[in-house]
Amino acid sequence: MAILVLNCGSSSVKFAVIDPVAGGNIIVGLGQRLGSDQASLSWSHGGEKGEVQMAKAGHAEVISAVVDLLKKRGLMASVQGIGHRVVHGGARFAASVLIDQSVVDGIAACNHLGPLHNPPNLLGIDLCRKLIPGLPNVAVFDTAFHQTMPAQAYRYAVPHEWFTKHDVRKYGFHGTSHRFVSAEACRMIGRKPEDTHLIVAHLGNGCSATAVVGGKSVDTTMGLTPLEGLMMGTRSGDLDPAVIGYMADRLGKDAKAIIDILNKQSGLQGVSGISNDMRALLKAGDEGSEAAKLAVEMFCFRLAKAIAGLAVSLERVDCLAFTGGIGENSVPVRARTIHYLGALGFRLDEAANAANGRSTNGRITAEGWMLALVVPTNEELLIARDTAAIIG
Ligand code: ADP
Repeated sequence: MAILVLNCGSSSVKFAVIDPVAGGNIIVGLGQRLGSDQASLSWSHGGEKGEVQMAKAGHAEVISAVVDLLKKRGLMASVQGIGHRVVHGGARFAASVLIDQSVVDGIAACNHLGPLHNPPNLLGIDLCRKLIPGLPNVAVFDTAFHQTMPAQAYRYAVPHEWFTKHDVRKYGFHGTSHRFVSAEACRMIGRKPEDTHLIVAHLGNGCSATAVVGGKSVDTTMGLTPLEGLMMGTRSGDLDPAVIGYMADRLGKDAKAIIDILNKQSGLQGVSGISNDMRALLKAGDEGSEAAKLAVEMFCFRLAKAIAGLAVSLERVDCLAFTGGIGENSVPVRARTIHYLGALGFRLDEAANAANGRSTNGRITAEGWMLALVVPTNEELLIARDTAAIIG
C-alpha cells in the first residue's frame, strides 16, 4: 500500500508517494514556478532523477503530469489514497478527516484565516477529485494539533467580540511536525507520550515552538497567522503591535503593506540585510559580518526566551526537541540557544551537539542536565500515516 501526499501551494506542488508502514519515500517531486514561463516538474525515484520544463503549466497540468509519471513508473496501482496538507482548519478541524463536500465547504469557510494557503490547498483537492476519481482524499491540517490548547493559551487579550465575531485567537501551525516530533522524541527516550512533558522547536524557513503534554499541544508560538512568535527567515515574529500603525504613518503605507514587510522582508533577512538562509548567515558571520552575527544571536536569544515561556505550561521539562532544517543541522544555533537556557538547567555536550546527536540517540546536552535532543521531522510521513489510518 502507498499514499500520494500532496502539498499544493500558490505557485508550487510538492508530491511524494510514501509507504505509510515502512516509512520510505518511493518517489518525491516538485512542480514549481507554476503559471510562469519557467514552470517545471522535477522528481526523484530510487537513484533516478528527472526534470521536465512545462512552460505556463498551472496546477491542473502539473497534477495530470504527476499522475502520468506515476502510471509510467508503475507506481499508481499501489496508491490507495491521497493525503493533502491543508494549512488552516480554524477551530472546525481538530484532526485529519476524509474529504467530502462538507469538508471542502468547511475548509473554504476558513479561507479568511488562511487567504494565501487555503485556496491553493483546495484547488489541489478539487483537481485530485476530478483527475484521479475513485481514490479517497484526506485533509491533514497544520492547525489541528493545536486545537487542544486551553483558552488561557489560545485567547488574546483583546475585546471579546474580536474572538466571537471575527475568530481572532491563536491557532498555531506546523502541527504535523510538532505532533510527529513529539511522538518521535518520546520513542527515542523510551517514555510514554501520556506521561511526557516536552517542548518542540521546529526551525525551518518558518519557525515555531510548542509545549506538548501527554501527546497534546498546550501552547504554541504561532498565532492567528504564522507571523507571530519566533524570529524566522523573513518573518519578524513577535513585536510591539503599535509598530504597525507607527510604520504605516512613517512610510505612508497601509497596515497590509506593513504586515507584508513583516512577513517577507524581516526576520533573519531584515536584520542581516544579507540572507534569510541560516547557512548563508553563519558563513557571513564567520567571515566577519556583524549584521549576520547579530541576526543569528537574536534568533537564538528570542528562541530561548520563547522556550522558557512555553515551560510555564509544563509541570517539568522532560525534553526539548530541535527539528527542521536549522534545528536538525545548525550546531551553533543549538549551542547558543542552550547557552541562553542555562537558568532552566540545560548544559551543552559540545561533542554530541557537533555530531547533531547522531551517536547519542539525539541527545546534545550533558548527562545529568536537562535533556535536549535533535529529532528529524517527517511531515509527509505523518500525512501518509493519517491518510492510511482514515481510509483503513
Ligand atoms: P522549510 O521550512 O522550507 O521546510 P527547512 O526545514 O528545509 O525549510 O529549513 C531551511 C533552513 O534550514 C534554512 O535557513 C537553511 O539554511 C537551514 N539549514 C539547512 N541545513 C543547514 C545546516 N547544515 N546548517 C545551518 N542551517 C541549515
